[in-house]
Amino acid sequence: MNLKLFIKKNVQLSRCPNCNTIASLRRSRSRNLIERAMKKLKVSPYFCQSCGWRGRLLTYKLSRNFFKLILMYIALMLITAYIVQRFLKSYFD
Ligand SMILES: [Zn+2]
Repeated sequence: MNLKLFIKKNVQLSRCPNCNTIASLRRSRSRNLIERAMKKLKVSPYFCQSCGWRGRLLTYKLSRNFFKLILMYIALMLITAYIVQRFLKSYFD
């Protein structure tokens, strides 16, 4: 399974959640161990150049068609299971 189908770069990163200024966010330095660990989890500290807002934002988020894809996989699995079951039934009868 291709993971890139499920996650994509958070496009809202470029917009400040506090003042809504576009392209004002900058990645701030990880100051301690916890922030460094958070960074590994793709939650990075950011600060806004125009209003001074500081906070963490998720670098990646689930893509919009995530649930559609999951449903598709489940449907495919159910169909496959149904076909296999029918095949086995007719084979052993
Ligand atoms: Zn701001």
